[in-house]
Amino acid sequence: MDKIEHIGIAVNDIKEANLVFKSILGKLHYKTEYVESEDVLTSFFDLGESKIELIESNNKDHTISKFLNSNKSAIHHIAIKVSDIYFEIQRIKKEGIRVLNEIPKQGADNQLICFLHPKDTLGVLIELCQEK
Ligand code: ZN
Repeated sequence: MDKIEHIGIAVNDIKEANLVFKSILGKLHYKTEYVESEDVLTSFFDLGESKIELIESNNKDHTISKFLNSNKSAIHHIAIKVSDIYFEIQRIKKEGIRVLNEIPKQGADNQLICFLHPKDTLGVLIELCQEK
């Protein structure tokens, strides 16, 4: 595994959150993208070695909405960059850690993604990412 690719932060209002993070980081997000495979709206801020991803769902039954519950925003997941996601999925499964999707999905920002089962990662949601 290479580095933290991004930190995903769930938010209730991505427009408001974009402004807050613009103030914090001193720069605009470089893209907004609807991710069909996850049914979420995302925006990305470049932080040199890694990125911050803001995630919003309009669906109150979505896992993002349930995760936020009454919080305004919260760190949702940590994404780790890998060079071979297929290899890492097999390696991690052999360690006894389940994955949420055996076949990598098309994620935001031109990445193949796979989430690890939070029950096997001490409750921390970890996403593997490989740039396409
Ligand atoms: Zn992510």
